[in-house]
This record gives sequence, C-alpha cells and structure tokens, in this order.
Amino acid sequence: MAPRATEEERDTIIKTIREQGLDVNVSVGTERTVIGVIGPEEKIRRIPLEAFGGVENVMRVTKPYKRVSREFHPEPTVVTIGADRSDATPVKLGGGAFCVIAGPCSVESAEHIVECAKLVKRCGAHALRGGAYKPRTSPYSFQGHGEEGLKMLAAARAETGLPIVTEVMDPRNVELVAEYADVMQIGARNMQNFTLLKEVGQAKRPVLLKRGMSATVEDLLLAAEYILSEGNTKVILCERGIRTFEKAYRNTADLSAIPTVQELSHLPIIFDPSHALGRRRHIATLSCAGIAAGCDGLIIEVHPDPEHAASDGPQCLNEPEFSECIGRIRPYVELAGKVMR
Ligand code: PEP
Ligand code: MN
Repeated sequence: MAPRATEEERDTIIKTIREQGLDVNVSVGTERTVIGVIGPEEKIRRIPLEAFGGVENVMRVTKPYKRVSREFHPEPTVVTIGADRSDATPVKLGGGAFCVIAGPCSVESAEHIVECAKLVKRCGAHALRGGAYKPRTSPYSFQGHGEEGLKMLAAARAETGLPIVTEVMDPRNVELVAEYADVMQIGARNMQNFTLLKEVGQAKRPVLLKRGMSATVEDLLLAAEYILSEGNTKVILCERGIRTFEKAYRNTADLSAIPTVQELSHLPIIFDPSHALGRRRHIATLSCAGIAAGCDGLIIEVHPDPEHAASDGPQCLNEPEFSECIGRIRPYVELAGKVMR
C-alpha cells in the first residue's frame, strides 16, 4: 500500500481478497502496510489489485515460502521472550536487540538447574536453556527428566527471573511444554517433523527452530512457514552447524546462512556455536564470527561441571570460560550495531 493509504482502502482490499477464498497476510510497518495474498495464481490474477485505491505496487512473490519472506514483511520481527510471566524478566530478540541464551544441554536435577541458572545469570545471560526431553542418537543415552524436568526449569525461572528455552519433541507434549516454557525449541532432528511444526504453530509461545543437519536454507524457511501458516509468528531461527565431510569438529558452522536468511526473511536468527563445534575450544571465537555475520543472539551450552554433564559435556563451557566468552563478544555486538542488555 502507498504510505498514505487509508485504513478503509486497506480493509476494502482485504475483504475483496477474502471473498475470493484466498488467504491474506497483513504486515503493518512504520512506513507502509504490505498485504500478502496466498493462493492459486490464476485466482489471484482475476482480482485487478492495481485498480484499488491506496495500492502503490503489486508484485508476484515467486519464492515457495511467503509468510516468512521479506517481501511479505519488510521489517524485522522482534520476539519478546518471557513476555507474559510474572516471574520472568522479559527480553527482546531481533531488530537490533541481541540476546544470549545459555545453560546445560539437559536438566539433570532440581538443584543442578537452579545452580546453572544462577551461574549463567551472573555471567550476563538473558535466558536459560536446558532440555527436559532430549533427542539422543542412542536410545540407551539419558533421555531427560520429562515433565519433572519442566517443573525444575520453572523453579529455576522463579528463582532467577530468567525465561526458559526448552525442547519439545512430540506433538502430544506441545500443550504441556507451552505451559512451562517461554520458548519451545524444535531440535535439528525434528526440523521437518511437520506434525510437530503445525502443533507449535497453533500454540501461543515463541518457537526456536533449529536448522536440520542436512537442511538447506530453503528447507529451514519452509519449515518456519509451516509454523507461521498456523498462526504463530513468533519464530526464532537457529544456525547450529550442518553435516559435511569435515570430521575435525562435530558439525560445520554455516555462517553464510546467517546473512542469507536475513536477506530472505524478517525472522530473527541466532547462532549455536556449541553444537557446531562439539567441543569447548573456540566457542568464544566462533561466537564473535557469528555476531560479525549478523546473528541476533547466541545459544551456548554452559555447565558448572562439564566433566560430569549428563549430555554434551565436551562442548559445555564452565563458569570462567563462559564469563570470558561474554566479555569477548561484547565489543562485537556493539560493532554490529546491536544492543545487548
Ligand atoms: C540441543 O540444543 O541440546 C540439541 C539437541 O540441539 P540440536 O537439535 O541442534 O542438535
Ligand atoms: Mn546439547
């Protein structure tokens, strides 16, 4: 719509599109409103959109994803984490607001997760991560404490005010996880679990969608499109390394994906150096690289005693290491023109 288009002109167009049985996605920006139309092209072409008052330009979006695209929503999406909890300190992510999510790979016990929460808070983290449901490669590895783990996370939030980021693996658990979590994580292994994507799409909580280890940028954006098309627009993407022929580290951090995703989509994207490297050396260095590439935040595994962690110990930073890491990233965040509270 033209910057001076009236609300009436906007509503007339939306009504006309809906009457044709087509889907509408309205994005109200500070400058202008973009009306996205989704449906079969022949059907859309039949509406003389250029002829309506207030229309500045009509363009065809040829990309397979629509709602996540920059064309549909030119301004960056800002996700507020922990917005509606009396015991959490909310934090913004995206659109220049940078945040650090940190904590253990998995919730080990009630005392353990409170200790982790206090540790990461002391060092400057804005949210606590920790898995209650763990997608483990082997069925014999620790699978997480499930609902008990969620309760432990909620207690850690009550104690520290840190919002909680935790994984949901099963569509049947979405409602339960949403009750406790401030952000529901979809792990790399579940990025294309379409039933799960649709289920979190119907929930109210923000979603952290991690890139699958063999997913392309387009696959990632289409997975996010599933969530948005169900109505949930609070999606944070995450680059966590992809599988390549390289064996010197766990995965290969695909830093090119960060500016590429930002060019194609309005959704914020964070970087996970822990699962990319698989060991704790170079996590601070890679974090700085991620920030230089333009990420909107970091998710880092931290454990008070990595040698005894129940999962992913080799890649967990201890307190001095995490504290040093935060110190090292600060100037990079500033240099990138972002603000870290
Ligand atoms: C995790 O965050 O602990 C995790 C399992 O990550 P990913 O899905 O990226 O492997
Ligand atoms: Mn992990």
